[in-house]
Amino acid sequence: MTQTPRYAGWIEVITGSMFSGKSEELIRRLRRAQIARQRVAIFKPQIDDRFNSDDIVSHNQQRIPSIPVATANDITELAADADVIGVDEAQFFEPEIVPVIQNLADGGKRVVVAGLDKDFRGLPFGAMPLLMIHAEYVTKTLAICMQCGEPANFTQRLTQDAEQIVVGEMDKYEARCRRCFEPPPGPSPVNEGGDA
Ligand code: ZN
Repeated sequence: MTQTPRYAGWIEVITGSMFSGKSEELIRRLRRAQIARQRVAIFKPQIDDRFNSDDIVSHNQQRIPSIPVATANDITELAADADVIGVDEAQFFEPEIVPVIQNLADGGKRVVVAGLDKDFRGLPFGAMPLLMIHAEYVTKTLAICMQCGEPANFTQRLTQDAEQIVVGEMDKYEARCRRCFEPPPGPSPVNEGGDA
């Protein structure tokens, strides 16, 4: 089946701290597309194996089937037949995620991207800043500070791990507001995520 896009596509970014409802919002948008009988394909990086290897699962246990991919370039081929493409945990992809998503949108597809905007140091995470720049729509999701109840825009790591990527949930992280967020002490650890 050949599909000639009649309209330009676009990029939507949903971003914020952990526990801010990013995956919930991603699932909500993709479900609506499925209800409208649009062809939906959902991808996530293989690094994220929380709960279930094949489903995107939000903290409130909503789920939607997804395809784990090793690299961003895998998405191009696997998304060829989709009208709407979802990408979760986009901060974990290498920088090639940016041209991949740009090309999909240029090709007439709607791409909905969810990811953490900041890492545990409060610094930009992966390709998220560039994706926000290229997006037509950006939604910042806020959590509630687990210390004081103010709107939370930071992810506080509760362990001493210095790597940028440490997979965990409420055992390792808290949502914090800008007043309660405590960046890790000392100089920035060696950056393995390629974000700055
Ligand atoms: Zn606070």
